[in-house]
Amino acid sequence: MKRSYPALDMFRLIAAALVVAIHTSPLSGLTETGDFWLTRVLARIAVPFFLMVSGYFLAQDNWNGTNRFLQKTLFLYAVSVILYLPVNFYNGNISGLDWVRRLLLDGTLYHLWYFPAAMLGVLIARALARAGLPAALAAAGVLYLIGLGGDSWYGICTRIPAINIFYNGIFSVCTYTRNGLFYAPLFLLLGAAGLRLCRGLAAAGGVLALLAVSAEALFLRAQNVQRHDSMYLFLPVLMVCLFSLLLEANAGERKSFRLFSLLIYILHPMVILLVRGGAKAAGLQTLLIENSLVHYLAVLAGSSGLAYVLCFLRPARPGAKARAWRELDLSALRHNVHVLQSSLPAGCALMGVVKADAYGHGAVTVARALWRSGVRAFAVACLTEGIALRKAGIRGEILILGYTPPEEAALLRRWRLSQMVADAAHGQSLADTGFPLRIHLGLDTGMHRLGLPADDYAAISALYQRKNLKVVGIFSHLCVADSLAESDIAYTEAQLTRFYETVAWLRAQGFPTGRVHIQASYGVLNLPKQQSCGYARVGIALYGVRSNDAPVRRPLDLRPVLSLRARVTSVRTLAAGECAGYDRAFQAGRATRIAAVSIGYADGLPRSLPQMGGYVLLRGKKCPLIGRLCMDQALIDVTGVPEAETGDIVTLIGCDAPEMLRAEALAVQCGTITNELLSRLGGRLPVVAR
Ligand SMILES: *Cc1c(COP(=O)(O)O)cnc(C)c1O
Repeated sequence: MKRSYPALDMFRLIAAALVVAIHTSPLSGLTETGDFWLTRVLARIAVPFFLMVSGYFLAQDNWNGTNRFLQKTLFLYAVSVILYLPVNFYNGNISGLDWVRRLLLDGTLYHLWYFPAAMLGVLIARALARAGLPAALAAAGVLYLIGLGGDSWYGICTRIPAINIFYNGIFSVCTYTRNGLFYAPLFLLLGAAGLRLCRGLAAAGGVLALLAVSAEALFLRAQNVQRHDSMYLFLPVLMVCLFSLLLEANAGERKSFRLFSLLIYILHPMVILLVRGGAKAAGLQTLLIENSLVHYLAVLAGSSGLAYVLCFLRPARPGAKARAWRELDLSALRHNVHVLQSSLPAGCALMGVVKADAYGHGAVTVARALWRSGVRAFAVACLTEGIALRKAGIRGEILILGYTPPEEAALLRRWRLSQMVADAAHGQSLADTGFPLRIHLGLDTGMHRLGLPADDYAAISALYQRKNLKVVGIFSHLCVADSLAESDIAYTEAQLTRFYETVAWLRAQGFPTGRVHIQASYGVLNLPKQQSCGYARVGIALYGVRSNDAPVRRPLDLRPVLSLRARVTSVRTLAAGECAGYDRAFQAGRATRIAAVSIGYADGLPRSLPQMGGYVLLRGKKCPLIGRLCMDQALIDVTGVPEAETGDIVTLIGCDAPEMLRAEALAVQCGTITNELLSRLGGRLPVVAR
């Protein structure tokens, strides 16, 4: 289960309030030094904290989420830039070059520097992290020290003339060193390290570090050497202690705080303008502007109020886990990609087969995760599946494994999809459309489903004569590779021989073959490495399951990706002799506690499941399915789980420790293969990735 981090989420609010303080100086009317300490020392933990949270979560996913993080940050930055354009125009006169510098480094308004810094910082941190965390931290530490010299230690460092020239150079490009290069990488990587000190050490260290930072800051201020006041020598130490305490303190979940604190961060400069404008209009300057503390509280309350309204206006969506859902373990998927790819010969790439909604796993979610794991080729069953992937932003090669009518050729071209050729007539009709198309020649080596007969050299060469068809691949499909029976092995070998004979003939003729491929999952699990292949088209194995429980020659350590879960919606007791469900198919032999569960055959479960001995997992125990499976609901016997109640999670496939319900077992139980069982899982079930 995914861990949640409420202490981190809660602290986001505190950090947001501190950022507002930086920009409103709440204590300035009371004590100059106190305000300096609050806004220029204490509040300087806010941004490092946000960076550490980002680094922590990105590193947990091995930096795989970097692109998504960049996209999201870029989006927020773009929205914020646009939101504050009127302020920029009001302030007036920014040159073109200035705009570029501000957009890339400084931010277009004083608080917006954070977004470009976070993006550049993440790119640098990820690049450094490749060298291992200690080396990365050392490098980022050096960058931070350079930044420090241009920030609060500026006046001291620049007493040396050469260093002064160095910083003059830096400041001709950017306004501050508190940016994505010198400042952000260290905090991102400290977050990535996720250090957990013991609580006493972290608390004592945190207090000492806060004292040290305070002393450092007050000293530098007294010396009047600060150019800016975001970076201190002891700040990273303070942050490590604070973050460790927060990691330690987690329990529960507070996701809504994330959006809330983000909105405060983005909106507060707007509220500052509103409060000042409003105070002037109402003649309340003394109270609302000159009294710095009231000013701060008004801005904080205004920003929180605005953030609250925006959160509230966001259309409510039903929770993905309200009824029944497909839960994906993406780390298992990544693991499977790695294991499968390592089992292939060098030069042979994994083609992820994501047809039928990725065997019921959710094609877009799976394809994106595969892409992040380095997979660059995908296979689908039909045109609409291919287009759906492109629309979701999937790049790389997408091969359609089924027939596409020539009337649709324009769409193949439009969406850059590769099409298999089902037979000679199909190839000719595609060629006749005149569209330049990328094709994979399907060869029939014995399955007799699709493909040109492997020995029909005349038809094959005829397709090579057609100028608009570009052969980028040639393949065949094995029909009994899952069997280890002697005659089946012989059949597979005959298929392989036919296939490679044709490939050899093509090469002899000088016809380009493109990528050669013949193995699907069982080709990988049962055949030796196919040295001359450019792809292995792997479907079911990618999802960490086999079609059935039959043994294979090269078993791989694959992990199931999907769990299927639903909820208990009602619990009741039947007296002996009472019936339940359609056809009165269940009759209680004794007093029986039963529960209704929110999943049925319209979600893809076989209707025969209860009668085939099917069961589910509830609170780590097996509960038999009873009666007839309904379209949208099921009944289970929970006599053995007296604590069962409405809202409990029911597992139909997957783990509910200590029990495990394997998809293969379920499929065998219902007389089918895992492929069918999984691919039938319906679109009504949301996909929840973890
Ligand atoms: C479905 C399919 C695959 C993938 O098969 P798995 O056994 O799930 O790996 C490969 N090639 C073709 C032609 C297919 O139709």
